[in-house]
Amino acid sequence: MKLMRVGEIGQEKPAMLDADGKIRDLSGHVSDIAGAAISPEGLAKLAAIDPKTLPELQPGRIGACVAGTGKFICIGLNFSDHAAETGAAVPPEPVIFMKATSAIVGPNDNVLIPRGSEKTDWEVELGVVIGKTAKYVSEADALDYVAGYCVSHDVSERAFQTERAGQWTKGKSCDTFGPIGPWLVTRDEIADPQDLGMWLKVNGETMQNGSSKTMVYGVAFVVSYLSQFMSLHPGDVISTGTPPGVGMGMKPPRFLRAGDVVELGIEGLGTQKQTFQADI
Ligand code: ZN
Repeated sequence: MKLMRVGEIGQEKPAMLDADGKIRDLSGHVSDIAGAAISPEGLAKLAAIDPKTLPELQPGRIGACVAGTGKFICIGLNFSDHAAETGAAVPPEPVIFMKATSAIVGPNDNVLIPRGSEKTDWEVELGVVIGKTAKYVSEADALDYVAGYCVSHDVSERAFQTERAGQWTKGKSCDTFGPIGPWLVTRDEIADPQDLGMWLKVNGETMQNGSSKTMVYGVAFVVSYLSQFMSLHPGDVISTGTPPGVGMGMKPPRFLRAGDVVELGIEGLGTQKQTFQADI
């Protein structure tokens, strides 16, 4: 299933995309794409519905693909080829940092370049949405706790991230720095999360063209690993790192300016498109 949330900010309705690409209203069945609705039992109930029996919604603004996200956890330097372009070594264990959940926006919403920013950068990432509380889970069982996957744009301000002291969170958490969606694609639709093409364009020019094949620590490992340190809850999102081609890795480096348009996508998970604008 491709689950989504459609409507103006704060008024999104839960919905699913049917086989014909029509948006079908799920609000008669669940209050939101969140919590128990994305548990294994909740997803089984939604899968049993014939989409044709659901009211059709007109296309409009698409919201973040999941609500009630308590934690937005990111993995840094998780692609061997991206670590190389940043001049960093692949770490011996996953680098974990948090992105504030207040950064979450819809996949096509405008992204704000924060005040004082000169180094706003892009990162296409595979997002993992947790569907069942995970604590001390094994790598072999880890995918049982995953509701599905989404496109995640880990927008980053490199000066805030690395030149302003401390660790990375303040360069990752600015308002609108977390577009997720358009869809939460349930796990059954993705045969192998470690074999997905990933791409990103700025103003039509391809910047990133990679694959989750070069991810160092794969989805099952990361879910298991994180669950040794904290419980993962339904609706939590893990952004699993970016392939090469970010602006800071270019020679000379290239960063986003007001008016730039970024498009990104992952095989089977849909696409996003954002216009960047100044946060005045
Ligand atoms: Zn990232």
